[in-house]
Amino acid sequence: MTSTQSNSGVPLTIGVVGAGTMGQGIVQLFAQAGHRVRVFDAADGAAAKAVAAVTAMLTRLVEKGRLTTDEYEAVRARMLSASQLSDLADCDLVIEAIVENLEIKRQLFRDVEGIVREDAILASNTSSLTVSEIAAACARPQQVAGLHFFNPVPLMKVAEVIAAVRTAPTVVERLRGLIEGAGHRAVVAADQPGFLVNHAGRGLYTEGLRLVEEGVATPDAVDRVLREAAGFRMGPFELLDLTGLDVSSKVMESIYEQFQQEPRYRPSSLVPPRVAAGLFGRKSGAGWYVYDEKGGRVDPPLPTVPPLPAGLALWIDPEAARRVDIAALAGANGVLVVDRAEDAALQVIQPWGRDATSHAVARGLDATRCVAIDPLPDFSVHRTLMLTAVTAGEARDAAWALLAADGGRVTVINDSPGFITQRVLATIVNIAATIAQRGIATVEDLEDAVRLGLGYPLGPLSWGDRIGGSRILEILHAIQEQTGDPRYRPNPWLTRRVQLGLSLLTPDAARCKS
Ligand code: NAD
Repeated sequence: MTSTQSNSGVPLTIGVVGAGTMGQGIVQLFAQAGHRVRVFDAADGAAAKAVAAVTAMLTRLVEKGRLTTDEYEAVRARMLSASQLSDLADCDLVIEAIVENLEIKRQLFRDVEGIVREDAILASNTSSLTVSEIAAACARPQQVAGLHFFNPVPLMKVAEVIAAVRTAPTVVERLRGLIEGAGHRAVVAADQPGFLVNHAGRGLYTEGLRLVEEGVATPDAVDRVLREAAGFRMGPFELLDLTGLDVSSKVMESIYEQFQQEPRYRPSSLVPPRVAAGLFGRKSGAGWYVYDEKGGRVDPPLPTVPPLPAGLALWIDPEAARRVDIAALAGANGVLVVDRAEDAALQVIQPWGRDATSHAVARGLDATRCVAIDPLPDFSVHRTLMLTAVTAGEARDAAWALLAADGGRVTVINDSPGFITQRVLATIVNIAATIAQRGIATVEDLEDAVRLGLGYPLGPLSWGDRIGGSRILEILHAIQEQTGDPRYRPNPWLTRRVQLGLSLLTPDAARCKS
């Protein structure tokens, strides 16, 4: 295979070893892209079953009008099941999608290398192993790379090409061309733990868990706020239930250990007891949520909003970012906005990265009458109400009633250094800055990998730009100061760009020139 061939769409012969979930998706992707695909599996009959399963999938595409019968026949003819590994001898590329076990993969790579031509490429779909360790078993490690797809392969329009330490740059380019030729976005990542997508995804899970661990909010409240106020398709606990905590906990532990216990990736002590108890999520009928026999989620009802007290006097911090919105809501609901905090039964603050108690104390307010509202989200979309350690029930209920008075969605949480959205987004941006600083991928590949692989509405550095790099930095500094936790120390990539007034997407000077 030459770089011209793979980029110009000339059909290749591709071997797929491992005919399970991922193998089947990979077979379908490349057969539909016009390549000949031979599939082998160690389990008797599994390869033939995989071809039959992909054929059934293609039949459904014909029924939906997404594939013509001629195309169907052509794709079907390009898929062959192999009865032995040596049937892959003429392959230009062999992609491995077998069990996630280093020794078994190393043995397979040695075997495949002994069968195929010297210029054939060998790629592993591993999600958590080091590709260089697999390649080290081979006599030609320069021909070995990672090719990490996401499930379901035909629908998840991104694949990571992993350049292991000895992978030849031409091999990376050929794989990139092949992926793009099949209609997916190819992103190139260094052989580092979690590669790109699973590394960038650490922030949502670990910070979500930390919020629950600290008693700030329940898992469903964290999910709701992140969906409604930040625009995530799913919150961390919904995602953990979908993937299965038994699987996710191993990924969390392994990435943390592989990064030499870097605090930014620290897993949670909440997880091991839940795994031991079998609370895996959807597949076990219970996880962070409970599911019925049909797999539907059984959510507890949302609490009832209290009534708005008559004659309420409200003071809004002049520094509050959403002061105008809050005052308008108050005015529309007969609440009097007063100029002096001491004249108000309810005092509202809007801190960035600080907890409500310390902000109230710093502003000389009465913490029993004080509440905080998250200034980050669009006020019309969602309102998070955070209490000080001693906010009185009447003040809490009055604030809650006011925020819900126009039908607005309200979530009440305990005190926290930074609200849910601030903590999670600042963590995600900080981790993305770390990925960029380490040169694990280009900024463009990082941004696209996160949007396509994780389904976030924006790439993480663009998201940081939208919130404001200096605001992200302010949040991180404040959380770090209050918690003393090095997890929140800002990455220099972020700090430098803020100091220079630049977009977080700005590449480093030396990388610009290359
Ligand atoms: P799977 O269990 O569905 O399929 C694995 C297949 O490999 C089985 O059919 C098994 O019989 C076969 N197999 C095992 N050892 C073999 C060997 N020595 N030779 C030939 N065939 C062998 O697994 P999967 O979910 O498709 O995962 C495969 C790989 O892809 C793993 O490395 C996994 O980490 C990775 N991955 C999985 C996902 C996912 O969401 N499932 C996503 C990305 C990457």
